[in-house]
Amino acid sequence: MKSIVALSIALAFAAPVVHAQTVPADDPIAALVGQLDLEKYKATIKSLTRFGDRRQGTARNRQALDWIEAQLKSYGCTGTQRLQYLYTEAAPGTPRAKRAPGIPSGGAGGPPGQGGSTLFGNRVPTGVNTDPMAQPDEKLRALNAEPTPVGTSQRENVYCTKVGSKHPDQMYIVSAHMDGIGFGEAANDDGSGTALVMELARIFSAPGVETERSIRFILWNNEETGLNGAAAYVEQRKDLQGIESPKGSGLYPEPRWLGMIQHDMMLFDHGMPIPKLDAQGRQVVDAHGHPQYVAPPEQRPEADVNIEYQSVSKQADGSAKLAWAFRAANDKYASYYPAAVGFHMTNTDSTPFMDLVPSISLRENERGQQIGAGWNPHWHQPTDNYANFSDKDFLLGLNAAQTTLAGVAQLAGVRVKAK
Ligand SMILES: [Zn+2]
Repeated sequence: MKSIVALSIALAFAAPVVHAQTVPADDPIAALVGQLDLEKYKATIKSLTRFGDRRQGTARNRQALDWIEAQLKSYGCTGTQRLQYLYTEAAPGTPRAKRAPGIPSGGAGGPPGQGGSTLFGNRVPTGVNTDPMAQPDEKLRALNAEPTPVGTSQRENVYCTKVGSKHPDQMYIVSAHMDGIGFGEAANDDGSGTALVMELARIFSAPGVETERSIRFILWNNEETGLNGAAAYVEQRKDLQGIESPKGSGLYPEPRWLGMIQHDMMLFDHGMPIPKLDAQGRQVVDAHGHPQYVAPPEQRPEADVNIEYQSVSKQADGSAKLAWAFRAANDKYASYYPAAVGFHMTNTDSTPFMDLVPSISLRENERGQQIGAGWNPHWHQPTDNYANFSDKDFLLGLNAAQTTLAGVAQLAGVRVKAK
C-alpha cells in the first residue's frame, strides 16, 4: 500500500499536467499553464536569493530591483518602468508610528488574530529576527551586512505591462513584494511570490500571446515596512486611471483597475504545529509550564493555496467574486494542490487597493489565522533560505502560479496565435 501511494505521488510530480478530461485540447489557457515549469520557477527564486534578504534601502535591494527589471525586459514585457517615492527610516529605538486600528476579530475558538481572524489550535510564537548575528552562514551574514540608512531617501517599485489588444484602457494587476527582512535569503517571503509574478510576465509576454485587457506585473518595495511601495503607487496613480495620454494616441499610462492580485509567501503549508517532544517522547514545556509546539517537517498532503479577500473592505463583494473565480481556475487548471477561499485578507500589498478595486491575495496559508499562529517557522527568520524548502514546497508555489495564470488569462481574455 505504501509503495502504491509513493508511486502515485511520484507520478503526480513527474507529470504536472492539467486535467485532460475537462479541458479541450485547443484551450489556450491550458497551453499557457503547461509552460509553467517547476525547475524554471525554482531557478528564478534561487537567483533572487543571490541578493540576500533584499532589505529596503540597501544596495542589495537596488541590485535585486535592477536584476528583476533586466529580466522583465528580456522577456519582452513592454513599458518596463519604475515608480519613485520617498521613505523615511527612523533612527533605531524610535517608537513606530501606530497603525490604523485593526479589524475587530476573534471567535470562541481561540484568541483574535489579524484581519478579523481567530487563532485556533496549537500555536508557536512569531516575530521578526532583527539580529544579523543570528545568521550562522558567514557568507550570507556578510551579504546582509549593510543596514538601511536612517533618514529620508528615494525608493522604487518596478513594473511592466501586457497591453490589451481590445481594451488597453483596462487592466488587472498581478504583484508581489521584492523586499525582505530577517537576515536570511527571503526565499519564501517573498522570493516565491516575486518569482511567480516574473514567470507570468515571461509567459504572457511571449510572441503570439494576446489578451483583450491589459495586465500589469508589479514588484513592490517596502512591503515589510508597512506596504509603503504599494501605498505610494495607489496615491500617485489612482486618479490617472483610464486617461488616454497623449490624447488620441491610444495609450493609457494607467489603465482602469479591474482587479488586484497579490502574492506573498507561496511555498510552505506543513499544517498546524504539533507537540514538540523531547528524547523520551514527552512534550517539552517552557519555564512557565506551557506546552511547546513545532511545525511538522514535511509539506502536508492536503496543502492548499489560500486565496483571501477582506470582508470589511468597500470592494468586498467584487473581491469575493474575484476570489471564487480564482478558486474555479485552480479547480480546472492546477496540477496538484487545491485552493481555498478566505475572507480575512490582511498585512499585504493588496490592502491599499481594497477599498478602490476588487483585491485578493494568494498565500501558502491564511495570513491571520495560520501564519499568525506560527505555522511557518521560517517567517522573517534567518532560515528563510532556498535550501530549507523541498520540491513539495516549491510545487505549492507553482500551483499558485497555475491558479493566477489561468484566473487572469480568463478574465483578461487570452488568445494564443498559431505560430
Ligand atoms: Zn511578505
